[in-house]
Amino acid sequence: MSAHIIAVANQKGGVGKTTTVVNLAASLVEKKSKVLIVDLDPQGNATTGSGINKGNVTNGVYAVLLGNEEINNAIITAQHGGFDVLPANRALAGAEVELVQELAREMRLKNALAQVADKYDYIIIDCPPTLTLLTINGLVAARHIIVPMVCEYYALEGISDLIATVRKIRQAINPQLEILGIVRTLYDPRSLLAKQVDEQLMTHFPDQLFSTPIPRNIRLAEAPSHGMPALQYDPRATGTKAYLALADEILQRTATKQT
Ligand code: ADP
Ligand code: MG
Repeated sequence: MSAHIIAVANQKGGVGKTTTVVNLAASLVEKKSKVLIVDLDPQGNATTGSGINKGNVTNGVYAVLLGNEEINNAIITAQHGGFDVLPANRALAGAEVELVQELAREMRLKNALAQVADKYDYIIIDCPPTLTLLTINGLVAARHIIVPMVCEYYALEGISDLIATVRKIRQAINPQLEILGIVRTLYDPRSLLAKQVDEQLMTHFPDQLFSTPIPRNIRLAEAPSHGMPALQYDPRATGTKAYLALADEILQRTATKQT
């Protein structure tokens, strides 16, 4: 077994990247997969949302990227949800500066994950919203990208930016990288704008668009403050059910892909 490595990325903040990472991880565990989350965002929201106190994280992804800690020693099991986490802490912001001086600086995460890839079915990477060396590490380590997007006016422009980035990474360093899918988040089916963006997405990205939209759902917003995925916080919430359905689509799409 070798894990499907998926980066969740979008150069915009607040589009539901972290929410997707944590809830997809819990949903895939529910469907009997072994899952590791990698928190590459210095804000550490995926770490906190997994019930891990980032103030107590001394050797997380930061130490692993700099080669100061073995990845196996840095991985923690989430408090709820049954997945593992390679956690972030604030110091990760400094990794950016320190990594610049290191050899093979874009390959650090890829090389570290190679040591644990046979323990998991899915490794899901939460990328920061900026195209920094951390995000590049995520996109170099990954085979697939999931792009969460909010159906609003400039959303498609954001996707074009990401596609341009993917093209550059493919040419320069990771030719296998591909977009596994685009997921609509914070979705309001009654919004006229959402319907218009839907139509554009179906025209331009018919193969990439996941058929499951993630609705705007208060339970999804509340769960992180309890340090748990929505599946544990409120199993019957509409947001919980949506992420379970999205997990089914991901299981299907990756079944035919090599890792
Ligand atoms: P990102 O990681 O892209 O910055 P987040 O996942 O942190 O985005 O989401 C941004 C904010 O929106 C957070 O407060 C989160 O709880 C909330 N949120 C995300 N998805 C949903 C949703 N489907 N319904 C309601 N709130 C959501
Ligand atoms: Mg985030």
